[in-house]
Amino acid sequence: MSLAKYKQKRKFDKTPEPVGGKSKAKFSIFVVQKHDASRLHYDFRLEAGGVLKSWAVPKGPSMKTEDKRLAMMVEDHPYDYKDFEGMIPKGNYGAGTVMVWDFGNYLAPGAKSKIESEKMVKAGLRKGEIKLVLNGKKLRGGFVLVHTKGQADNAWLLIKEKDEFVSKADATKQDKSAKTKRSLGQIAKAEDKIWHSNRKK
Ligand code: MN
Repeated sequence: MSLAKYKQKRKFDKTPEPVGGKSKAKFSIFVVQKHDASRLHYDFRLEAGGVLKSWAVPKGPSMKTEDKRLAMMVEDHPYDYKDFEGMIPKGNYGAGTVMVWDFGNYLAPGAKSKIESEKMVKAGLRKGEIKLVLNGKKLRGGFVLVHTKGQADNAWLLIKEKDEFVSKADATKQDKSAKTKRSLGQIAKAEDKIWHSNRKK
């Protein structure tokens, strides 16, 4: 899997976004980034084959089984993107504030290792159905990503599977960073300060 598309869209002397990175962790990771771009959305990312397979979810993930959240597949992101929280400056691709809304490990159901799990995810990508068990701070338990037929080529649905973690509460109401506990506004303010202090030098 390649990051060519990711790199093509960005100028790394103008954005603080990461260029690469390699996983050293025992488990595959997932991350959900709340992204206050021209349109607010949540980016759902899954580690597979050394990169983060990525989907933009306009309404964000849900813990209700009846919600089918549209998830548009976008370009693979580098592994280090999992830690990116901050500001993509104006004029750049995806300009706006990024929050690490949730993160954790995942396994494909039944998989006994990271290698086996990622193999199942890659098979699922080809098949159009990816089953996952997420172990995050906000998102827990079974989820499935289903490729929708007929619509746009990159349209998938993210759906919660029935288990003990199902909740009627709106998950997106928990709107603080899973990493730093900051709100989008606090992240933006902090980044603005850094930008101004760098300019004075
Ligand atoms: Mn995004």
